[in-house]
Amino acid sequence: MNFELQILGTNAATPAHGRHLSAQVLTIGKESFLIDCGEGTQFRMLKFQVKKSKINHIFISHLHGDHTFGLVGLLMTYDLIGRKKPLHIYSPEDLQAIVEIQLGTTLRFPLHFHTTDSTKSTVLFENSAVTVHSIPLVHRAPCHGFLFVEKERPANIIKEKIDAYQIPHTAIPAIKKGAGYTLADGRIIPHQELTKARTAPRKFAYCSDTIYSEAIIPLIKGVDILYHEATFMHDMLLKAEKTMHTTAKQAATIAAQAKVKQLILGHFSSRYSNLEPLLAEARAVFKDSFLAEEGKKISIESS
Ligand SMILES: [Zn+2]
Ligand SMILES: [Zn+2]
Repeated sequence: MNFELQILGTNAATPAHGRHLSAQVLTIGKESFLIDCGEGTQFRMLKFQVKKSKINHIFISHLHGDHTFGLVGLLMTYDLIGRKKPLHIYSPEDLQAIVEIQLGTTLRFPLHFHTTDSTKSTVLFENSAVTVHSIPLVHRAPCHGFLFVEKERPANIIKEKIDAYQIPHTAIPAIKKGAGYTLADGRIIPHQELTKARTAPRKFAYCSDTIYSEAIIPLIKGVDILYHEATFMHDMLLKAEKTMHTTAKQAATIAAQAKVKQLILGHFSSRYSNLEPLLAEARAVFKDSFLAEEGKKISIESS
């Protein structure tokens, strides 16, 4: 099953230096999830040929315009192209009222708003492939990130072993769930001998916007990819604290403490045309740091 991230916008507040506003698409199996929807998101989707029809769930971190102003345009497009499937939007409260005023019309497909609680981590959504948890963040508006955790899959049976021990098909479902098998002579064949080891569930965490917050570390421990905002460099720490954002050094500190596999920095201030100094600052603390690149597809493979 694929588990693939595509970042559509990497800039904070305003578009600048060829960078656009926050939006990401995470595809897990047959479904794509849209995370934040800054102004121009549907143009980014067209440019990168994102399949809009695969999106049934939109996750909004907070109601600042650089994360939401693309939503109304996208909803209008869905209506005009004849969408019939329900669409679910998860966000802190008040988004529904804002969207309804801006739309000024009734959509011809079911739109469901789910109000989130940004003060604690909750399960927002789950299907057979993934569970989506919220990550409480600290920002100027109620805000949370998102943790996508792949569901544990059934163990893979080793066919040669099943044949060798002449295990009937009726016993297979239990073995997939973790059971061993008892032969006619009473010998027990352990589950581990009959199956290939399960792969670790893949995890992606999105944390934007937020002030430096060590409270998120237990929630994002060991994730394959952490996308963390790095609006400023550390010489702008006071400004970062005042506006409740994070510096590149602080994002890397969080990544190191949480022992994530890879950190992607994003939500860059327009004051930086060249982002290399932010990357260098992060890599000095956490070497597996990278700059978010718009349009690039990043696959997390099963390990
Ligand atoms: Zn923002
Ligand atoms: Zn914000």
